[in-house]
Amino acid sequence: MGSLADFHTHSTFSDGRLTPTQLIDLAYRNGVRIMSLTDHDIVDGLPEAFTAAARYPDFTLVPGIEMSTDVPGGEVHILGHFIDWEDRDFRARLSQLQESRLGRARKMVERLQDLGKPVTWARVEAFAGEGAVGRPHIALALVEAGHVANVNEAFDLYLSRNGPAYVEREHLTPEEVVDLLHSVGGFATLAHPREFDAPGGIEPLLERLTKAGLTGMEVYYQDYSPDQVQPLLSLANRFGLIPLGGSDYHGLGGPRQREPGDIPLIMEPVERLLDLAKRNGVLTRAKGPAAVR
Ligand SMILES: [Zn+2]
Ligand SMILES: [Zn+2]
Repeated sequence: MGSLADFHTHSTFSDGRLTPTQLIDLAYRNGVRIMSLTDHDIVDGLPEAFTAAARYPDFTLVPGIEMSTDVPGGEVHILGHFIDWEDRDFRARLSQLQESRLGRARKMVERLQDLGKPVTWARVEAFAGEGAVGRPHIALALVEAGHVANVNEAFDLYLSRNGPAYVEREHLTPEEVVDLLHSVGGFATLAHPREFDAPGGIEPLLERLTKAGLTGMEVYYQDYSPDQVQPLLSLANRFGLIPLGGSDYHGLGGPRQREPGDIPLIMEPVERLLDLAKRNGVLTRAKGPAAVR
């Protein structure tokens, strides 16, 4: 079951429990030798990750990111690998998105106040820690304040898409994100395709994304069972996508959690991606500019 590669992990810089260093140590112990750190909409964990990775000569860190995009009726996550994360324009765009998310979270806190379910912004920020403030942190503040029994109830009663405290976030189409990732030399991969349940199914989305220049699709994901992997593999092949995968490790527990490397990702597709990265001259990014400074 163990895999040498894991292309989808999160650290404290988004919503994971482990620091980039702790995450890499755990991955290495688990036998992972090629890993991508793909925090949500942020690349700030990468300098620490490269420093940590440099302690293991036989370990390759692929600079990555996971970005949220919107399609009618749902949300689509796209992973970027081998991105030039130090690019000034790219970082400026990420900060801009972060500002807009922060504004949105503040508005949701205001709405809760109006609804007679106040939480303080300080507590929301405390729950987010170093990560980007989001609905899960507002949910935790609601639980702490005694307004709801648990996080699920916070979403059901207030924070879900149709909830009274919900505020829309800035919309990004999947194509915009694929373009953004391409603009910094990255490869785009559709994350956890089984989560996508908009009417019409996944095939129209794959058609759209393939046209936009999608490179891969997560097939060996988290707890996907062999009979869930098989149809995804056929789809990936049909659309000419590299069947990648990862644990999507957050370190938060739960029945679906898999540890870094604890997924049946085989090396053949990984090597296809590495070959592409070599041909495009971006494989060097995995060496980590921060590590050689
Ligand atoms: Zn995701
Ligand atoms: Zn993820």
